[in-house]
Amino acid sequence: MTVRPTSVRAAAATYVQLPRPLFSRLPFDYRRIPEKARSGLLRLAATRAAPAFPRWPIETTIDATPSGIDYAGKRFALLLTHDIDSRAELDLIEPIRARERELGIRSAFGFIPEMTWPTDRLVDTLLGEGCQVYWHDLAHDAQLPWTTAQEVRQRIAAIDAASTWAPRITTFRSGQLLMSPSLLSVLGERFAIDLSIPDSERGGPYGTVAGCGSVVPFRIGRLLELPMTMPQDYYLARVFGLNPRSIYDVWSVKLDHIARVGGVAVLNSHPVWINPVDRHAAGMWAMYQRFLEVAVARDDVLVSTPDEVSRAISASLDGAA
Ligand SMILES: [Zn+2]
Repeated sequence: MTVRPTSVRAAAATYVQLPRPLFSRLPFDYRRIPEKARSGLLRLAATRAAPAFPRWPIETTIDATPSGIDYAGKRFALLLTHDIDSRAELDLIEPIRARERELGIRSAFGFIPEMTWPTDRLVDTLLGEGCQVYWHDLAHDAQLPWTTAQEVRQRIAAIDAASTWAPRITTFRSGQLLMSPSLLSVLGERFAIDLSIPDSERGGPYGTVAGCGSVVPFRIGRLLELPMTMPQDYYLARVFGLNPRSIYDVWSVKLDHIARVGGVAVLNSHPVWINPVDRHAAGMWAMYQRFLEVAVARDDVLVSTPDEVSRAISASLDGAA
């Protein structure tokens, strides 16, 4: 029996207190399980009865009326993010950027400090063209939310100390969107923006459907939460086996909903699944390009980065609170 919360903060608090998933308790690194077996296990977990809240892919209880947030004169924002989960994906950034550049899009890239940390030169290039860089977890081993706050602080400080640019990066997203009250609290000490809480994620690490139930940005203390609102490529394609055409339809319907509500469309495409280089990714890449072309042609959308969206909405967001 699930109570349907009426406040996003209550729903987010429930999300961050969800029980620790089984794969994060394994005595070995979960990534040693082959990807096919992993997606099969996620599929199996997702067959359990879904809770009443949040509905997937659109939950309307909390977002019953338009947010009234002003996105630099636009109705809603679209943020393109790319989690770089493996070192091989570092080489896919430039081919992806080449197409985004043609479309006039600036996007954001998430790097894992202890695993896929970029060179200073790559960071300079991305920032130089108006893109943004964010921290994506620390080691992406599904352990961070259940690591002591003191250890997380120390590891963050070590990463900051070893870099000229890392201390200036104030946006974070956890691996697999796993979160705990302790991690959220430490993030609030060091970061300004978090991208870790989905509004409604189906087939993710928590099984069935989980999330804060709102596509509208909100604050947790001083931290600005930009919820992950577009269903992720991995779960749609690998866990549920949707073809690119069906994924396009899911994204389009969700984008229209976010526009109506005045929220943020946060899309995370993983280069390994969506890129112009690998033959296996061709269908997804064609679909992704089509989606971007249609989305950026809208006259009611601000296509931007987390930092810029934060600046654009702070007056109307905090004024409304
Ligand atoms: Zn990741």
